[in-house]
Amino acid sequence: MWCRKLRQESWRANLDVAMSTYLDHAATTPMSDAARLAMIDELGNLGNASSLHASGRRSRKVVEEAREAIASAVGATPGEIVLTGSGTEANNLAVKGLYWKRIQEDPANNRIISSSIEHHAVMDPIQWLVDHEGAEVTWISVNDRAQLNVEELVAEIERDPKVALVSIMFANNEVGTLQPLVRVIEAAHKYGIPVHTDAVQAFGKVPLSFKELDLDAMTISGHKIGGPLGIGALIVKKNLKLTPVLHGGGQERDIRSGTLDTPAIRALGVAATEAAEQLTERALRMVELRRELTARVLAEVPDARANGDELTLPGIAHFTFAGAEGDALLLLLDAQGIESSTGSACSAGVPRPSHVLLAMGMSEVDARASLRFSLGFSSTSQDVDALVSVIGGVVERARKAGQVSKR
Ligand code: PLP
Repeated sequence: MWCRKLRQESWRANLDVAMSTYLDHAATTPMSDAARLAMIDELGNLGNASSLHASGRRSRKVVEEAREAIASAVGATPGEIVLTGSGTEANNLAVKGLYWKRIQEDPANNRIISSSIEHHAVMDPIQWLVDHEGAEVTWISVNDRAQLNVEELVAEIERDPKVALVSIMFANNEVGTLQPLVRVIEAAHKYGIPVHTDAVQAFGKVPLSFKELDLDAMTISGHKIGGPLGIGALIVKKNLKLTPVLHGGGQERDIRSGTLDTPAIRALGVAATEAAEQLTERALRMVELRRELTARVLAEVPDARANGDELTLPGIAHFTFAGAEGDALLLLLDAQGIESSTGSACSAGVPRPSHVLLAMGMSEVDARASLRFSLGFSSTSQDVDALVSVIGGVVERARKAGQVSKR
């Protein structure tokens, strides 16, 4: 109950978000100026990219230019880009579309291999296939730094290669750990098994090339890279067959029906180009800022623990503040104008620990005492200063609140 109460109080107290210090860029990051201006400009234009007249052709040209820009940014060809309404939709299309196609080819191919730290946008469609379509799933474990246990994955494939697909995220959204995809792809391709990766967090943050990795399907999302919300893409290797999830007008090579959102697609193209061109510069800045943030938070709260791995996304700093509830920390920080994330769900007043942290072997209590700060290309050292100026007091208050609620 306290979780809901704190949230309500915080809503009332802190409606003015304009002054906030935003440290939740992994949830969503601001649109870049260029992407925003492109979108605003395009919103003033008329045209359905499927229409044959002049307005339609103009809209189609915008879409195809954006598709080229996205393809070049992810190391794919334009024909491999299937535009979707979100990263979640792209993940659903990859998981369900590949599963249905593969069991149509051979009904024995009903196994799915994935990891225990996937985003719910991968886990839940897989679980849905298990519950409703006769799929079997193996969730591969990770170590205490959220690195995939590749030996376990290889052994699972070797044990029974009748696998519909392997889906392993490129980088984890909570602690940032990068996954050993090269070995995953090698092991799966030995048996002709397609590999999908959810690269929603990795795209624009670390170098990646769809072609060079020899991936079969890869998900990206606009709002994590400075593009708009509500636009994403599934990159699908040429000649790889997928059963559509959305049926209708046959857009996107019949893989994803629905009128194309030209303004959002144009803006995604702009954001993707910027993300690729400025990748090194942005990443180096974020790494520097994250180092500063981590060192200064640990100096303020010496018994805090920094989680994750060295091979991590540049902008994610994740901590456990033992003895404090993550949701209390989040809301106390929010009341001070600092926005962060727990990665767990505080629904119906009951805080639930993150499945990612539990999979890393954390106790429920420690998992609930954890918080993620994530940086973006617009983050500054003033953001770090603001956090550092309050974190010590906030942790102390949250720990005291925890002791009181236990009495
Ligand atoms: N996959 C990962 C790893 C994510 O972090 C997210 C968003 O948080 C998604 C998928 C979902 O993407 P979208 O918000 O575009 O639906």
